[in-house]
Amino acid sequence: MVANKTGDATLALVAHDQMKSRMRDWAVAHERLLARYRLFATGTTGGIIGAACPSLKIKRLKSGPLGGDQQIGALIAEKKVAALIFFIDPMTALPHDVDVKALIRLSILYDIPFACNEATASLLITGMAKK
Ligand code: PGA
Repeated sequence: MVANKTGDATLALVAHDQMKSRMRDWAVAHERLLARYRLFATGTTGGIIGAACPSLKIKRLKSGPLGGDQQIGALIAEKKVAALIFFIDPMTALPHDVDVKALIRLSILYDIPFACNEATASLLITGMAKK
């Protein structure tokens, strides 16, 4: 489904600060599946995943609040992202909330699979593996 739609097997990964340990643990649990894709991540998220999953090659963009979310949005608009996995913090107000909303909007607009919590991310990555 995903690779056919964009012709590009790239995943984008983002996790807010309070969700980073969950993203790290999720990535460790799915490292073998994640290794099939080209991976982009916001700066801190990419660093944490990379440290926990040495087999993954991750292109780290700027940190989210410094424009990393917008960089991922630009990649989505260029149809270079097959799916977005974004662990959003449901409990904390964020200074870059507008960037978060823009990223969600672009995911809807370009109709890419978008997981914003762990359960959906697991369904997405295992579902993509069956294609
Ligand atoms: P970070 O950015 O991975 O650099 O922390 C994520 C975000 O808060 O958007």
